[in-house]
Amino acid sequence: MTRRSLLATPAVALAAANTAEFEARSQRLFLRHTWTTTMSSSDYRDVIYTAVTRDGITGHGEGAPIVRYKESAAEGVRSLEAVRAVLAKSNWRHYRKVLDEVHRTLAGNWAAKAAVDIAVHDWVAQKMGVPLYQLFGLDPAGTPLTTFSIGIDNPEMTRQKVREAEPYPVLKIKVGLDTDEATLDAVRSVTKKPLRVDANEGWKTKEEAVRKINWLESQGVEMVEQPLPAAMLEEMKYVRAKVHIPVLADEACLQPGDVPKLAPYFDGVNVKIDKCGGLLPALRMIEMARSLKMKVMLGCMISSSVAVTAAAHLSPLLDYADLDGNLLIRNDPFEGVTVEKGKLMLPRRPGLGIRARATEDRSRKTEVGRNYRPAQQVAT
Ligand code: MG
Repeated sequence: MTRRSLLATPAVALAAANTAEFEARSQRLFLRHTWTTTMSSSDYRDVIYTAVTRDGITGHGEGAPIVRYKESAAEGVRSLEAVRAVLAKSNWRHYRKVLDEVHRTLAGNWAAKAAVDIAVHDWVAQKMGVPLYQLFGLDPAGTPLTTFSIGIDNPEMTRQKVREAEPYPVLKIKVGLDTDEATLDAVRSVTKKPLRVDANEGWKTKEEAVRKINWLESQGVEMVEQPLPAAMLEEMKYVRAKVHIPVLADEACLQPGDVPKLAPYFDGVNVKIDKCGGLLPALRMIEMARSLKMKVMLGCMISSSVAVTAAAHLSPLLDYADLDGNLLIRNDPFEGVTVEKGKLMLPRRPGLGIRARATEDRSRKTEVGRNYRPAQQVAT
């Protein structure tokens, strides 16, 4: 056994509690339903997990590699070897300096950067003895409602998913295929709730986008995400002039520098920690969007409660929250943020405030499969 693999075992990590430790590994998350968007269809997702330990405190982090940007969990974990030395030599209390150095050290690999950024934030807030939202100066009572996402499916499954989403007052419907009308008809046959729609670049012309957005508005849709391919920016001026509901950029908006470029073309941006590389760049994007009078949404990937709770700590800053990735999986190793009548409820414990779920609990939920109820309904 090498020294590194020895240190990666829990017992040895505990024994070395007063020295800095850094672990990175991939974790497979299984979905409650096969998840389909215009880009992919799958039953599971692999994410990157990190843990940073020093002074007897462990901070946890997570990042979801995005296939569209040619990322994978295996490559992300490999890439993180490069930041081991940065973390070992630095004072984590100066976390902005540390994370800027992590970004300079690691090329690309935004999900891997996010996993380190979240772990360091978790560690710092625990070290200071405050919940993460307090580190940002935010009011936990100011969290918004989160949408619950309904992936693309046939009308029968769509109706079933909408029925299962009964506890959530606002839904986000994935569209972008020829079946959009049938999808919305199926949703509306079950619920009158406000809807938001994500086309994931699925519509191919500005005329199609205008026609569909105006039809969606007539169906009670209050906002649309990324109607056209990210590269079709100029077409968005035409679209915005002919529709009435806000149109937000997602795939067109990756890092902080993208926000000012998008201001002429979109009403707002969907910030994701996995796209921009962490909470620190996400905060920069949110503040930049605000200064440009753009609306701000914080989205997530299919993730466990580590990444979703981290994002939720920034959620008092948002117009729209789409933080449901942990609700879509059936083997979440952690519990953290919960949802009550759609509203995000932040843990009050220091740091992210996450806790490992009991193994017994997890296996029981996995067994019941499709009938598994979302975490907030069983949380104590
Ligand atoms: Mg989106």
